[in-house]
Amino acid sequence: MHGGERPAIRPVQNDPVIGAHSPLRVLAGHAGGARRGPLAAALAATLLLCAVLPPAAASAAASSALLGSISQSCTLTATLDVEHGTVVAVEKLTVRNRSRSRIDALDLSVLPRAIGAYRADGPVTVAGQRAATRWTTGTNLRVTVRPALAPGRAATVTIPFRLSLADGDGSFGARMGLTGGVLNLGDWYPVLSTVHDAHGVGDPQVTWAADRIRLELTLPDSVDPDQVAASGERVGWDPARRRLVVEVRHARNAAVAVSPAYLVTEQDVDGTRVRVLTLGDTGEAAMDHVAAALRRYTDWYGPYPFPTLDVAETGVAEFGQEYPGLIFLGRDVLDSPFGIWHEIAHEWWYALVGNDQIREPWVDEAVATFSSLHALGIPAVTCSTLPVDLPITAWPAEPTTGDWTGCDGYAETVYLRGAVFLDAVRTTMGTDLFFGTLRAFVAAHRWQVVGGRDLVDAFRSADIATDAVIREFTSYR
Ligand SMILES: [Zn+2]
Repeated sequence: MHGGERPAIRPVQNDPVIGAHSPLRVLAGHAGGARRGPLAAALAATLLLCAVLPPAAASAAASSALLGSISQSCTLTATLDVEHGTVVAVEKLTVRNRSRSRIDALDLSVLPRAIGAYRADGPVTVAGQRAATRWTTGTNLRVTVRPALAPGRAATVTIPFRLSLADGDGSFGARMGLTGGVLNLGDWYPVLSTVHDAHGVGDPQVTWAADRIRLELTLPDSVDPDQVAASGERVGWDPARRRLVVEVRHARNAAVAVSPAYLVTEQDVDGTRVRVLTLGDTGEAAMDHVAAALRRYTDWYGPYPFPTLDVAETGVAEFGQEYPGLIFLGRDVLDSPFGIWHEIAHEWWYALVGNDQIREPWVDEAVATFSSLHALGIPAVTCSTLPVDLPITAWPAEPTTGDWTGCDGYAETVYLRGAVFLDAVRTTMGTDLFFGTLRAFVAAHRWQVVGGRDLVDAFRSADIATDAVIREFTSYR
């Protein structure tokens, strides 16, 4: 789940299939507006990452198709001030053109700008030369590449920037902010993406897996290096410079959460080093769910894709947000098995098998929601009648806020009707063939960005009887 602004789960208090302690019930309370429970928070959190923008055609810039043909690696050097919420950073993004076309511009999604937290800290350079830049949307920074990058050639783009983060709220606050003593940095640096702007409903970026992302983090004296949650493995700690180095391979993004108040619970789960970082002594309880989810999803979808997993309590209570090898869970979501299971499912559906989260958010959200509900034995129910494959822009929103609720709202449609759809596919195919099909799909599309049609075609190929279900719930024909 990503946190959403207000997950719009229809009130289900009277629905006999929803147990008193189900996460959906919490969501129901949330939707009702009277109270907010852990589950509602969990779902809300799930919704968080979604935000976005109208696609903008840029003839000079790399198209979405081209983006899949760019290999990239990135080093982020950042000094973190956890007391004041400031980050001083330099990003070095190396891109290699593996397409057959020349690339004369790169579009970088800079989400912190949507909340006024971003400012340039010097000129952007390409191959050491100052480059022309232009904001083509509120959050899309177009960097001119001159001379154009020929097929097979590589160049390094250097971007100095600063962040000033404050107490966050809503879905954007769940991604980045200084809230409750936690500095959480998600979607915090310029990342190669399609052209879009921020949108208060849904997830805001489409990202391609980088060969490697390296984080070089300078920590304040107040923070122990163990109190840093991050995407990736720790490869170095220099106590004299207070510099922690973390690396991750094949990640679409890299996030960080830091707090001098973090308590750390660590466990090896079948070879994966799992750490739960919490502000209270709830780490053990959360770890039980994290370990169970990792094992169940490994059984369903294949091996967990990273050597490590950090689970970090972040400041906005009702939100959760997934990143490669790291999930953010607000207080309420942390208390919700549904929220934990939902976010961990995203490590397969988003981190490993990517999708266009703006145009086809159901591909990761519906599968993550279905996975968590099915694993926990909670029936999926919905009152939405809309196709589950709508883009996030089908729901009007401000750049950083939007209405996630309502019967035909984003959450009810993409998350819950999406889960109902997938459960209908499972019932039609049979459970073994259903999970076998998904496992094979994951294996065939590791680290890629897939289309929703690819997934429904996999169902059709496995069992043509699913075609009627696909037609009932989606617009794929
Ligand atoms: Zn989600």
